[in-house]
Amino acid sequence: MKTILITGASRGIGAATALLAAKENYAVVVNYNKNKNAADTVVSQIQNEGGTAVAIQADITKEQDVVKLFSETKRVFGNLDILINNAGILERQMKFESMNMERISHIFKTNVFAQFLCTQEAIKQMALSKGGNGGVIVNVSSLASKSGAPGEYIDYASAKGAIDTFTIGLSKEVANEGIRVNAVRPAFIYTDIHSDGGESDRIKRIQDTIPLKRGGHPKEVAEAILWLASEKSSYCTGIFIDISGGK
Ligand code: NAP
Repeated sequence: MKTILITGASRGIGAATALLAAKENYAVVVNYNKNKNAADTVVSQIQNEGGTAVAIQADITKEQDVVKLFSETKRVFGNLDILINNAGILERQMKFESMNMERISHIFKTNVFAQFLCTQEAIKQMALSKGGNGGVIVNVSSLASKSGAPGEYIDYASAKGAIDTFTIGLSKEVANEGIRVNAVRPAFIYTDIHSDGGESDRIKRIQDTIPLKRGGHPKEVAEAILWLASEKSSYCTGIFIDISGGK
């Protein structure tokens, strides 16, 4: 049984990926930060259906938490096979000129530096040269890396741009370590994140401009993430799948 660690798996896209991964016979690490109840619910749902999962709290912006997350994963399930860098945050919509540095730092810390930390710990367990068996990393970017999110959250979009560049560079650097690195770029997915941006009905406002005329469901993103995680995509590295209703 392969082990998959999903950051931010208590809710939204991460939770959907955890549930689907368990159905596909992975041992699942459900990472969360604050929402223990939601993470425990995901784990119970998996276990009730006969799957294997554990919830591990870690604020992935904190280096000591990340080290603990990966060592605990290894202790419980052995070497990690797949990392899904999913956890991410939005701040309130506003013009770029109004964003203070505290906000921008928080966005980059959570959406970029935390992914760097998690990925470094994953490579230590996966790399062939370190005695690992290789592995797969899937980064959850955003279509915002291409649109730039003007008037809403340019800071967030820029952070996702950094994740795209990271995906390209890292995929080439660790290919000979047996590690593939790919990304998904969702948009307009029905999750709590839009409330954090200050507009819970954002998808409703935008949906007429989406070619498929609707928002997406977390499971529709999970399907692409798990395809990239699986051997079905064995000749893909450094690629992006846009899951954005045609926009
Ligand atoms: P969500 O429903 O708001 O869930 C966010 C998850 O991230 C939660 O599980 C949360 O944990 C976790 N998290 C936040 N900060 C964390 C930290 N410091 N340490 C550990 N976990 C942390 O978000 P979502 O919409 O599913 O988004 C998932 C990913 O998809 C993000 O990277 C987001 O940028 C990306 N994305 C989403 C959309 C969309 O339309 N929804 C579009 C493009 C990209 P707690 O529950 O413990 O707080």
